[in-house]
Amino acid sequence: MTPLMRIDFITIFPNMFEPLLGEGVIARGIRQGALDYRVWDLRDYATDRHRSTDDEAYGGGPGMVMLAEPVIRCVEAVMVSSEQPPHLVMTSPQGRKFDQKVAAELKERGHVVILCGRYEGFDHRVHEALQPDEISIGDFVVSGGELPAMLMADAIGRLVPGVVGNKGSVEEDSFFRGLLDYPHYTRPEELRGMRIPEILLSGHHEKIRKWRKEQALRATLEKRPDLLDAAELDDEAREILRRLGKF
Ligand code: SAH
Repeated sequence: MTPLMRIDFITIFPNMFEPLLGEGVIARGIRQGALDYRVWDLRDYATDRHRSTDDEAYGGGPGMVMLAEPVIRCVEAVMVSSEQPPHLVMTSPQGRKFDQKVAAELKERGHVVILCGRYEGFDHRVHEALQPDEISIGDFVVSGGELPAMLMADAIGRLVPGVVGNKGSVEEDSFFRGLLDYPHYTRPEELRGMRIPEILLSGHHEKIRKWRKEQALRATLEKRPDLLDAAELDDEAREILRRLGKF
């Protein structure tokens, strides 16, 4: 099978990616050949014998800065290994915010390269030379780009057909249609006095479908009403929302 999605990570900590690549649906997607995820050790592209990838900041002040040259050389090596020019992403708290829409957009690119920063981030000339798409996972700072990159690669990979066994389950997840997911229950029917909603035992698929849709709308209305403005709502959804007092 030719991979449907390729993601390359550029990092000074290649071992950090083992959990993502070794276990779970992403790992299975890689084994099945739907995903091609590669990790590049930035130190291999250093230009001195100490294999340096960072140095002190011009102008002084605390914190080291990632050297531009190894990053540019490594990106060039990735390019050589790729038939089409990939989309270059830089993890950064200053970037546009990652969400399900951005995940879907990056999936459409087919091949994404993600730069993982450390310390104070990259020498600013990396931006000038490569003009990456800066992406943030939220308004907080973590100590490196590896976790943000893995998080994005997980969200992107599970959108690739065949990676999550059941396509329906991805489509019903929160945010796929702009709504939150409905509540899920599994065995036993009664747990410490709490019973599952009877309708789920009825075997009546149409009623269950409608109940779940209503629950998804309720959850969204209660927890994230801001999502409703942009959500894809059909007539049935609008009718349910009217009943719930919205509109
Ligand atoms: N001095 C920088 C932060 C550097 S944090 C600033 O204030 O903008 C070190 C690295 O962690 C960054 O280069 C980036 O790769 C990663 N990182 C930190 N927070 C992030 C976030 N919210 N989203 C994506 N990447 C982040």
